[in-house]
Amino acid sequence: MLSILHCIRDQHDSSLVCLAALVCVLTALGMVRLCRQVQWARGSARTGWLTTAGVVAGLGIWATHFIAMLGYDPGFVIGYDLVGTVTSLAIVLVTSIAALVIAARLRSRPGYAIGALLMGGGLATMHYVGMAALEMPALIRWNPGYVLTSAIFAVAPFALVLPLALHGKSMGTGAVAATLMTLAVVLLHFTGMTAISLVPSRAEFSSDTMMSPREMSLWVFVTAACTLGIAATAAMISRRAEIARRTSERLNNERLELIGRRLDMALENMHQGLCLFGADGGLILWNQRFVEMYGLAPQDIRSGMTMAEMARVAIANRAPADELDQRVGRVLHNLEAARNGRTHAPDVSEYDDFIVAVRSRPLPDGGWVSTFDDITEQRKSEARIQHLALHDGLTGLPNRSKFNDLMDRALAIAAHSGERLGVVVLDLDGFKEINDSRGHAAGDEALKTVATMLRGVLLEGEGVARLGGDEFAATILFNETHELADFVDRVASCFEGTATSAAGDFVIKASLGVASYPEDGQDREQLCNNADLAMYRAKDNLGERICYYEKGMDESARHRRQIAADLRGAAGRGELVILYQVQRSLKDECINGYEALLRWQHPVRGLVTPCEFIPIAEETGEIFAIGEWVLREACREAALWPEHQMVAVNLSAVQLGQPNLPEIVAGILVETGLSPRRLELEITETAIIGDKARALHILRKLKSMGVSIAIDDFGTGYSSLDTLNSFPFDKIKIDKSFVTCSDERPQARAIIRAVLALGRSLDVPVLAEGVETRSHVDLLQAEGCDQVQGFLFGRPQSAPSLADRGVTADIA
Ligand code: C2E
Ligand code: CA
Ligand code: CA
Repeated sequence: MLSILHCIRDQHDSSLVCLAALVCVLTALGMVRLCRQVQWARGSARTGWLTTAGVVAGLGIWATHFIAMLGYDPGFVIGYDLVGTVTSLAIVLVTSIAALVIAARLRSRPGYAIGALLMGGGLATMHYVGMAALEMPALIRWNPGYVLTSAIFAVAPFALVLPLALHGKSMGTGAVAATLMTLAVVLLHFTGMTAISLVPSRAEFSSDTMMSPREMSLWVFVTAACTLGIAATAAMISRRAEIARRTSERLNNERLELIGRRLDMALENMHQGLCLFGADGGLILWNQRFVEMYGLAPQDIRSGMTMAEMARVAIANRAPADELDQRVGRVLHNLEAARNGRTHAPDVSEYDDFIVAVRSRPLPDGGWVSTFDDITEQRKSEARIQHLALHDGLTGLPNRSKFNDLMDRALAIAAHSGERLGVVVLDLDGFKEINDSRGHAAGDEALKTVATMLRGVLLEGEGVARLGGDEFAATILFNETHELADFVDRVASCFEGTATSAAGDFVIKASLGVASYPEDGQDREQLCNNADLAMYRAKDNLGERICYYEKGMDESARHRRQIAADLRGAAGRGELVILYQVQRSLKDECINGYEALLRWQHPVRGLVTPCEFIPIAEETGEIFAIGEWVLREACREAALWPEHQMVAVNLSAVQLGQPNLPEIVAGILVETGLSPRRLELEITETAIIGDKARALHILRKLKSMGVSIAIDDFGTGYSSLDTLNSFPFDKIKIDKSFVTCSDERPQARAIIRAVLALGRSLDVPVLAEGVETRSHVDLLQAEGCDQVQGFLFGRPQSAPSLADRGVTADIA
């Protein structure tokens, strides 16, 4: 070691040694810097950086050696052999490049060892070939021990330099690599110089292939400058590239971070719960929504859990313990099916107040993602919509379409079990009046009250529905007839007495029609039609609120439908005829006038009485046209009679509801030229009761025109004194039923007497109808009756104007 130090001190120029060391350090730093670029460069750029690093290392090491050599002064160096010198440069260049490329490519211990051998070996070879190129009058003797040591010094450090330079990250490791490399170069050089001893001898030199020390120093310094220039330029390029790389790396990181943050945000704000599982079946990621959905605590769920573990924890929070195994089993089964691509449909699980749809999708990496959709609200609103579609919004009862469905099901049950099915169709009576007089809100309340009462009387297995308007239906499956009777009684009991609702008290009546399977119909439509028929029958019969379907009802309904059809346009076809029945004064028996009574000469059925067709005309609305026709014909006829004779025309209740009736009457009077004083309109009490205010309003208008108003059939309906009090009638007509049976029944006589007394006290003349016998006349005369009408004085006959001209009625 000492001899090495002596060699440095005694045989070298110290300033050139320092310069060589400086070049060497800069070369090493340059090479390390360039080597570092391979960590991010790819492909040809990588090779480019490695080659540049190898060139810098080779040139730098060569320059270092020869600067040191220039500083070595054995005192008789004459020159440098050109071939040897260039060869030494080529060796170190090639080995440096090869060492770096191999070490970078293999990136392993053997790779670094080969690289170190190449680089260190190349360095040593360059040194000794360079030494051999020295031209001087001396022979070089080699000390093999030092030569070997120098080679080891050259090779060993590179085993560390290469990994640190190529794959180290920090500045520190770079500095260590540069230091070690400098050490290798310096130790090799000085140990190598110590290894030689010069023995003076004569030698011949060829000046052609020899460079003088002056020339040599020029080349060396040019090389050193080139080396440093290349190193500096490359370092600058690499620095810029690194800045660009760092900037793009930072931007990339920021972008990744942003994407990550957005992903987190999306995940946490997702409507769905989400769990991501890896290929090993372990939970990787989950969102807060999932945790909330199952009411989990943060510690309940952790990375790496299996689907089975996670499902168990989650479901345990929602379902009772005894269902846990079965539910978890189902989840796993569905997961398996989804992962195998057997199903894409969600698995819907229902808990008490929570319905969830779980869907799993396999991922390309072998894992899967499971999503959890809370569909509780969706299901609720679907159920609500379905309920709305099948139920009546006001009462909450099933509507017609739901009722049809229930009926069909009940019929199927009955057909299967041999039971019977009873259907009660019920229609409220006078509901329109509640609506008109107390408003629609009160009408709605009345309907709600009826619905509540009907629901209240039903037993298990019985049903009720609102079919529309004021029409309801109720059904029962039964075996014995008394069960049906009991059911009908319970339904009917809802319409007894006064019902209390939010809008006040109501008296609500209803007409009930009953039909049952199998005797009254085989299918829903037939059963309901027949129950309807029975209900209409109940409606027509004042005293009868409940009517059971009977076979004949079909026939009568068909008959009514036929009559209604035939009646249309009967007046136009000349099938209607008016007969006139005389009304006389009892005092002097002179003719006061005639009542116009309508007949229908049906082309097939023959003579049809008004009692048969007027109610049908009222139902179909045909009465408006018929009534107007009767009025016109009767007025035209009466205009032909003596001035003091009146014509009485019957007005139906439906006509009285016609707002423009007074205008129609006035028009006809003008048209026929009949004085209003000679027209008397007969109305029954029931026509007024329906909508009293409106009826009275119309009557007043008619009366103000000078037309007389008679109250017909008095004593049969309500016979309310209030009716008489509410309007100044011009005549009271005692119903013929009292007169007809006055001989046998003292009550009838009492009523006649009472009505006559009433008339006297109100100063309203009274006419008795149905006078058929002398005894009737005697009774009426004794009681002071004003006028009479009946078969005794004349049957309804053809128009008096025709009779005057000798034409007699052929119909009566
Ligand atoms: P009403 O207004 O009470 O007419 C009197 C009915 O008694 C008539 O029956 C008449 O023929 C009958 N009659 C008259 N005298 C006697 C008698 O001594 N004994 C018996 N048993 N009956 C007698 P008709 O013509 O069959 O009319 C029945 C009902 O038809 C009428 O009862 C009336 O309510 C209605 N009607 C008749 N024509 C019209 C009309 O043009 N318009 C309207 N809306 N109703 C009419
Ligand atoms: Ca009448
Ligand atoms: Ca009458």
